[in-house]
Amino acid sequence: MSVTHTLEADVLRRQDPQLADILHGELDRQSTTLQLIAAENFTSPAVLAALGSPLANKYAEGYPGSRYHGGCEMVDVAERLAVERAKDLFGAEHANVQSHSGSSAVLAAYAALLRPGDTVLALGLPYGGHLTHGSPANFSGRWFDFVPYGVDAETGLIDHDQVRTLARTHRPKAIVCGSIAYPRHIDHAFFREVADEVGAYLIADAAHPIGLVAGGAAPSPVPYADIVCATTHKVLRGPRGGMLLCGSDLAERVDRAVFPFTQGGAQMHTVAAKAVAFGEAATPAFAAYAHQVVANARTLAAGLAAQGLVVTTGGTDTHLITADPSPLGVDGRTARLRLAAAGVVLDCCALPHGDVRGLRLGTAAVTTQGMGEEEMVRVAALIARVLRGEGESHTAREEVRELAGGFPPYPR
Ligand SMILES: *Cc1c(COP(=O)(O)O)cnc(C)c1O
Repeated sequence: MSVTHTLEADVLRRQDPQLADILHGELDRQSTTLQLIAAENFTSPAVLAALGSPLANKYAEGYPGSRYHGGCEMVDVAERLAVERAKDLFGAEHANVQSHSGSSAVLAAYAALLRPGDTVLALGLPYGGHLTHGSPANFSGRWFDFVPYGVDAETGLIDHDQVRTLARTHRPKAIVCGSIAYPRHIDHAFFREVADEVGAYLIADAAHPIGLVAGGAAPSPVPYADIVCATTHKVLRGPRGGMLLCGSDLAERVDRAVFPFTQGGAQMHTVAAKAVAFGEAATPAFAAYAHQVVANARTLAAGLAAQGLVVTTGGTDTHLITADPSPLGVDGRTARLRLAAAGVVLDCCALPHGDVRGLRLGTAAVTTQGMGEEEMVRVAALIARVLRGEGESHTAREEVRELAGGFPPYPR
């Protein structure tokens, strides 16, 4: 088994016991705590095997059939396979699988469609926009003129009227839809209509829900967006990386925006691992997984609401939940630390109604482990107990250890 093989491989143990201990420690941490970070998952042993393969040695600048390096026969086949599988999986005319990360994919999408100084409409960062959607600390905020839209403070839903008004006023060159914290489906048809009205490109940053799309558990942005950017390591459960999907009309621009404009050599071990992940995501088992992820998130959201947390938008359509823990007497930051001490790992996030920090949770990883709705009910109760400060913290830590122990992410 590749994980145990990698971690217990005599090679690493013998050559570098210090690092072998670190890898073991991390596997132990992942196996004995609850991974509720919405952006994380447990990728498969097959994906890990591709990542740990000799393809990591290969330089391959360019694209299959036209590389700047020799010896690309095998990696060309791997990349063509990844591209074909991505196109089939998402019904896209073109796929680029070389982006090193989700952020690199967004950078490439902007590079393909925009010039520095162009106006872009995107969900503001306080409402769940990503760094690449105009943060002043990021290239996006420095090089483009971002106009933020928001969510309704009461409902937590994207304010469609505001999107339309801002688009008419600012005539952006591109509109970005997609978020790191939006728990509901995005209305791609609406965004397409507004983009068409003002002559803007539509970029869907589907980094989070693309895995649900693959499994048929969320609507696809592919028929609506000019370019879809995504990660391959969130719900999609592949290797850490990015990808872009688009129509044939933009294929060449997108490819040139990735290489040579924003990247050098592709990471061929990662490209191969993406092929493996796309293959897995095309199976009925993955479709069942994606639907279970959503069912689990709905149950967890309902459980948290029943315990007194205020769940943004009242629930979720996806793997992702955001919630305000303050009715239980703690702010988001304190809540995150208390939960971490109990072995429940999640993030803080901004909430629609202003300055209080909330909690962001996701069910992609625990669902991969095999947890179901019964476990989600238990997790919600456990979270509430920890937040209320009921019982000893080591008792909660023991319960988490016992729960996680029943669902090992990797065979030992
Ligand atoms: C995760 C995410 C990204 C960035 O992905 P990285 O691989 O961390 O660079 C970009 N946009 C959105 C909406 C995301 O959720």
